[in-house]
Amino acid sequence: MIFAPFTGKDNHGRPVTFAAGLLSKEIANSFSWLFNQFVKCMGVALKLIVTDQDLGMKVAIEEVLVNTRHRWCMWYVMNKVADKLPKNMLGSEELKKELNACVWSELIEPDAFEETWHAIMERYGLANNDWFSSMFASRRFWVPAFFREFPMSSLIKTTSMSESQNGFFKRYSKSRSNLIQFYMNYNHTLKTQTSNSAKLEYYDSTKVPILKTKLEIEKHASTIYSGSGYNAIQEEIVFACFFLSCATLGVSTNREIEVYNVKDNDSNSWTMTYSIGDDTYFCRCKKFERLDLLCSHIFCVLKYKFVKLIPEKLRGGRWLKSQFVKPIHGVFCDDQEIHLAADEKKIAFKNLYALFIETTQSIEGNIHQINAFASIIEEGKKLLLG
Ligand SMILES: [Zn+2]
Repeated sequence: MIFAPFTGKDNHGRPVTFAAGLLSKEIANSFSWLFNQFVKCMGVALKLIVTDQDLGMKVAIEEVLVNTRHRWCMWYVMNKVADKLPKNMLGSEELKKELNACVWSELIEPDAFEETWHAIMERYGLANNDWFSSMFASRRFWVPAFFREFPMSSLIKTTSMSESQNGFFKRYSKSRSNLIQFYMNYNHTLKTQTSNSAKLEYYDSTKVPILKTKLEIEKHASTIYSGSGYNAIQEEIVFACFFLSCATLGVSTNREIEVYNVKDNDSNSWTMTYSIGDDTYFCRCKKFERLDLLCSHIFCVLKYKFVKLIPEKLRGGRWLKSQFVKPIHGVFCDDQEIHLAADEKKIAFKNLYALFIETTQSIEGNIHQINAFASIIEEGKKLLLG
């Protein structure tokens, strides 16, 4: 049978297994069943699913996970490049360099990606290559430029997570195990995962991180983020402190918006906008939207403005210490609730609650949308309850 685990990441950036299924065949119907069971058990569908390029899985996702963003693992796609290139180009370091810079960049918009891709294909005579043409046609499934604003957390950051998880499960299982042995080994694997996570929780509550700057904001970051979150944030703070300069580009006439220009030592520049009314920051690099991690450009502006604490809206939810973590998607539930998840009423309620959380989070900064949403709920309440 085929083992199909669902793996996410926790606030330490470590893999967490949410669920797993055993399939008899890797076909669309089996995957549809699996996804349906997952949604039924979890009470809420996934926001994002990262898979290989399996066609059956793609069909099942389109059928069952209609509101889930589907992304192919970049590593699977890029590992095939060497096999697909014409032999006379295999040694071309220039082509590899240009192609990597084009497809891996999270900092270019889709139109810039498309322009650069076409230029590379023309330059190296690959415009009519079937594989490259089909990968371009499917670009929305794998190229980072198309996920610039989508919350990816750390799912696509390092080497293929599925590969490392496969290795993790293999360490605790044997190929000729019967079902009972497999089930016991699987539980043992999950216990190891939980125990690794507990160790990190312990470090977070006892370890005092070493600060690298004298900024109050770094000290504050060390108290609210998990170890991994803080390490990533600290890099950005150090960069903002020693390698970036910030200048005000302008302030709008009605004093609603401040615009900043942030420059690094190589004269690359980024525009950062601060909305005074709702106390929100937006940097065009979109790192915060994508990874829930503040970028060095925003830190540079916070330092320029002498801000000592990370503003509430810039803390995100993904990398906080466990005691500060908020539900990002759906709700937390205790063990008893998990057992009752099969209950149709519970599932419907959880879906409703997740919808409410998702809607309120997405309209948070817009007073008109907040008022409109409140009116809709008020109307609905009157309609239902009289
Ligand atoms: Zn930025």
